[in-house]
Amino acid sequence: MRHNGQPVILASSLPPNLISLSERSCALVACPTCGAWKSIKRGMVTAHRGPHVPGADAWPAEFRPSPPRCPGSGQRVRVDLSVDQWRQRLADTCREAGRRRPTRVIPRPKPPVARAVVQLAAR
Ligand SMILES: [Zn+2]
Repeated sequence: MRHNGQPVILASSLPPNLISLSERSCALVACPTCGAWKSIKRGMVTAHRGPHVPGADAWPAEFRPSPPRCPGSGQRVRVDLSVDQWRQRLADTCREAGRRRPTRVIPRPKPPVARAVVQLAAR
């Protein structure tokens, strides 16, 4: 498989929730184009098919065209983090997100409903 010609993405430049590192299995990354989780083989996102073509659902399943190859296939990703570094970054990010204050929902009064034309004529 050839790379897609896009510049190399460093794992350290990605948010830690878009990459998954483990000692037991290969690294996973969310495809930068479609967001699907794909493994990294030979420093590239494995080939996969992209999201469905719009309007393809109208076709019967046996005639439905298969989605084209995702442009994020073959994206080069350099894993420059160790598993421990990635875990620490993920924990720090989760802690920081937990500290954020939720937005306060302010209920607004509903605008008055306009009378129907029939009701206006009755007056
Ligand atoms: Zn993709």
